[in-house]
Amino acid sequence: MLFKEHLDEYTEDFFDLLYSGEHREDSAEDASRVWEMIQKAQSGNCVQDIVDLFLFLKQARMEKGLSPEFTGLARSDAVGLALKHQNLDEHGVSLGGRVNQAASIVQQAGDRVNSYLEARDREAPSGMLLWERIQENHSRIREVLGMSMQDWDSFSGQLKYAIESPQTLESILNLPPRALEEVGRVTRDYRMRLTPYYAGLIMPERLDDPVLLQAVPTGEMVDNAGIEIPPVAADHSPARLIDQFYPRVVTIKATNMCAMYCTHCLRIAHIGKKDRIYTEQAYGEALDYIRRDTRIRDVLITGGDAFMLPNKVLRNILAELDSMDHVRLKRLGTRIPVTTPQRVDQELLDILEESNDKKPLRVVTQINTAQEITPVSREAFKQISRVVFAVLNQAVLLKGINDTFVKMAHLCETIQEAYVRPYYIFNCSYRNPQFSHLRVPVEKGRDIVEGMYGNISGDAIPRYIATAGGKIPLHRSNVLGRDQGDIILQKPWSGEQVKYPDADPEVYSESRWGLKRYE
Ligand SMILES: *Cc1c(COP(=O)(O)O)cnc(C)c1O
Ligand code: SF4
Repeated sequence: MLFKEHLDEYTEDFFDLLYSGEHREDSAEDASRVWEMIQKAQSGNCVQDIVDLFLFLKQARMEKGLSPEFTGLARSDAVGLALKHQNLDEHGVSLGGRVNQAASIVQQAGDRVNSYLEARDREAPSGMLLWERIQENHSRIREVLGMSMQDWDSFSGQLKYAIESPQTLESILNLPPRALEEVGRVTRDYRMRLTPYYAGLIMPERLDDPVLLQAVPTGEMVDNAGIEIPPVAADHSPARLIDQFYPRVVTIKATNMCAMYCTHCLRIAHIGKKDRIYTEQAYGEALDYIRRDTRIRDVLITGGDAFMLPNKVLRNILAELDSMDHVRLKRLGTRIPVTTPQRVDQELLDILEESNDKKPLRVVTQINTAQEITPVSREAFKQISRVVFAVLNQAVLLKGINDTFVKMAHLCETIQEAYVRPYYIFNCSYRNPQFSHLRVPVEKGRDIVEGMYGNISGDAIPRYIATAGGKIPLHRSNVLGRDQGDIILQKPWSGEQVKYPDADPEVYSESRWGLKRYE
């Protein structure tokens, strides 16, 4: 190893700071403690012992104004230790860099997340944390509805006993009589359905429970009704069951059924009105449309909820798509692993695996709160993630449900820990006046999503999107401008501006480069 004889600027500056302190006696207790630290740092081969000593000396300098000379450690001894430190370290990190730079950078970064860490379990508890209470809810609901264990554990049982009327809702949740009356009024026009499993995720004493707000419709849905903007399909459906915004991606709306119905459903005009089984003719026409346009490479099977399709239909549609040369990828849109994880059985997993083996298959889900991830839905996602290319989440930004940094960041971290990757956060659509009371201003969402940069894993940060005839990104630009050859960038987590030297345009335009120079 090359022995480095010189201290770097960080270490010189650090020692200038330390030795500019006062040389006076400190309490005897400190002096004997520090003497031990010096001995340890000098005798051993432990980098951390040297770091600990200098962190202590830095503290004495900052808090009491003391120079290290109070310990008898002369500057020349300190230099010796600094050289020893950088020569022991595998990456040649200097003592000043580590103690005076890195340590405070880590400290500052830590301060940015401390308030989140302190608040997350209180403000946005996950279904993992609430699991005991959810299990109590589940036993109670099962008893009230008269379900057997077998009913509970099966998808058909969950659907058969789904909660669809205010009367049944009343028997499992403590809602004020006025609220139940309103549910009765709204459900004349809009469907309510909660599977018993999903209903158990609601904390029954809370009127502002984020799962309750997603599942139980309120009077606003009827009262808000203003001018109805025509549903997306009106101008984006070039063929039966098909929606198309983009040249290379299309969706097949393969069913209009869901296991539970969301109060914020973008497709509220079609979804949940009346269960319809689509004919083979309809699927055939949709598949023919895709077969004819060889530009299409990615097909999204959605609904409603793709996992509402019987296994046979799902297998057939996937096999048809896999047989088309130009179709290279598929996606299934489903919320069922969250609302009714009982659906995820071996037969379904086999269908997914078989298709994924041919061409990549992704499962795109919708989880809006950490509360929706329980050990049961986590297990379902884990199994799905083993047999498909990716499991992605599209959340909707919703008032009172996930519209704070703590709630959204905890959602993203919790789903990532459940094998699901945050993909999109949608600003709740303007198209449907029925749920305008759930909308959140665009700026608020920007602050939330951009607050995640630098504070959680990069692949736990979703893209923030407005849907307006296609998906339009809503992120702020972090490119503030240009100063000659430099780009001015802004760090989203601190606001700090940095100059980023751009590639030299002349070098970039050089055509004789690399090995071509020697032609
Ligand atoms: C969301 C959506 C897509 C897929 O968009 P990606 O950005 O590729 O996820 C395609 N078609 C329609 C109609 C959609 O709503
Ligand atoms: S799961 Fe999707 S399609 Fe079904 S009700 Fe919810 S938002 Fe609408």
